[in-house]
Amino acid sequence: MERFNNKKILLSFLIAIPFLFGGFVSNETMMPAFRMKKIVLDAGHGGKDPGNIGSKSREKDINLAVTLLVGKYIKENLPDVEVIYTRDDDSFPTVQERPRIANINKADLFVSIHSNSAANKSAYGTETFVMGTKHFEANFDIVKRENSVILLEENYQENYEGFDPTSPESYMMFNLMSKAYIGNSLTLADHIETQFRDRVGRKSRGVKQGPFYVLWTPSMPSVLVELGFLSNTEEEKFLMSQAGKEYMASAIYRSIKEYKEQIEIN
Ligand SMILES: [Zn+2]
Repeated sequence: MERFNNKKILLSFLIAIPFLFGGFVSNETMMPAFRMKKIVLDAGHGGKDPGNIGSKSREKDINLAVTLLVGKYIKENLPDVEVIYTRDDDSFPTVQERPRIANINKADLFVSIHSNSAANKSAYGTETFVMGTKHFEANFDIVKRENSVILLEENYQENYEGFDPTSPESYMMFNLMSKAYIGNSLTLADHIETQFRDRVGRKSRGVKQGPFYVLWTPSMPSVLVELGFLSNTEEEKFLMSQAGKEYMASAIYRSIKEYKEQIEIN
């Protein structure tokens, strides 16, 4: 009886595998091949939240301009992909609303676009984050700053159930995060950093993990891109220029295209 039950459990598990990994395991007889049909582009900050402030720029403006360009390139070149923005103007969607938009629309990918800042003005370069807590203490400044947006929201204490973005202990809860999408998130993050480095000639600070609230709840592969440091005079100038924005947006667009081709083959 015991053995029979185990067998039964094993059998149900095997049957469930294609459903658990739906879209990522190709199974021609059971379901159609995976197609990346919808992408949510999230321009970080907005409205009353300017994000990082450079000497001449505000993060929210640079994020929005680059995000809209990425969307434009996708619409022009990948007509089978629907682009959804969490904001396409200077509005202030909350940190909970952003991934919710992606979940409600059943998007296949979530890309959040930000610009960095540091007390050390010589710091520069790009980095792309996936959700995770591994070694995140090393990047706690960035994590804390991005998550502190929550403090500007009304009723944040109620909505975020006591989560305090400035307290390292609060981040324990992120360990409960599902790891289901980490592989594909890393694949896209690698493409983005490679494109920034090899095609745009930026300094890549690499692919990293961070417990960003906005990456916690999307039920799909998700990345958070830091385009560069507004606290660095040269990098701010580059990101403020139209050419700079176009280069960065093209790099992100090409990475998404590569990612799409790769996962649709597998
Ligand atoms: Zn930001």
